[in-house]
Amino acid sequence: MTDFQPIIDNITLQAKKQVDKGQVANYIPEISNVDPNKFGISILDEKAQLYSSGDAKEEFSIQSISKVLSLSMAFSIVGENLWKRVGVEPSGDPFNHLSLLEMENGIPRNPLINAGAIVVCDILISNLKNPKSEFLEYVQSIANDPSINYDEKVAKSEKETGFRNYAAAYLIKSFKNLENDVETVLDFYCYSCSIRMSCEQLVKVFYIFMNRGNCLQNNNYLKLPQVKRINAIMLSCGFYDEAGEFAFEVGLPGKSGVGGGIVALLPNKFCVATWSPGLNKKGNSKLGMSALEKLTTETGLSIF
Ligand code: GLU
Repeated sequence: MTDFQPIIDNITLQAKKQVDKGQVANYIPEISNVDPNKFGISILDEKAQLYSSGDAKEEFSIQSISKVLSLSMAFSIVGENLWKRVGVEPSGDPFNHLSLLEMENGIPRNPLINAGAIVVCDILISNLKNPKSEFLEYVQSIANDPSINYDEKVAKSEKETGFRNYAAAYLIKSFKNLENDVETVLDFYCYSCSIRMSCEQLVKVFYIFMNRGNCLQNNNYLKLPQVKRINAIMLSCGFYDEAGEFAFEVGLPGKSGVGGGIVALLPNKFCVATWSPGLNKKGNSKLGMSALEKLTTETGLSIF
């Protein structure tokens, strides 16, 4: 068993000393005022041992990381039919890209870009009685943590400024790949992105993807072939137009968000989350990426 504590303490020390921490995302007003000096990291291993360092207990806006969770819930409800509505190819596009190339005939290229996640939200709305509360309960129950919640201010801030997401949704609607009205879908999409979690909470939720669909309490959320598919999509599509670079540097399936969080995992071994709000030019947390590169290089633990 690897003792991750000295490794992540050292990574945190180096991160805190780093001068160039990247740029905090400013296109969602409510997340632009986060302290850029924050850095946290947590690891949960296969024996359920939790290791944490830095600001690992502090909550932040998980943003696009939520796309993996909405995908997981929708996939467990509708099964393989999901792939009639959304593809599985990397887009190679930035996080906020909006182009016809992002979709063919209204089918977004994958569920981890905004357009794809909007379709996944539409599927959840069509299949749930109370989408917002049922999605939150789903996430809370995986983590066994009822304190996880939406951030109303962030959701509202994004609803007021997310014009590209509205544009994407209308485009998808024009191809008849949205069953519900755009307002309803975007409201749910913005709420799902606004969920707040700490690194410690994130590793507990993403434990299901490293532990064959089972959470820490051993309840099953996904079948093994479904876990395989979601991890494959995280590897090829989880980092905007930097998925290749992330595989090259880090070598783990994962997902980042513009709130500066990254979560990644090695199946059957460990799950790791980092948070540092400064982003690189591609929209991924600058210090988070280098921390994860150090982690997998020093331990030799990656899927490769
Ligand atoms: N809610 C954000 C958006 O739709 C998510 C962006 C992200 O984290 O990639 O723009």
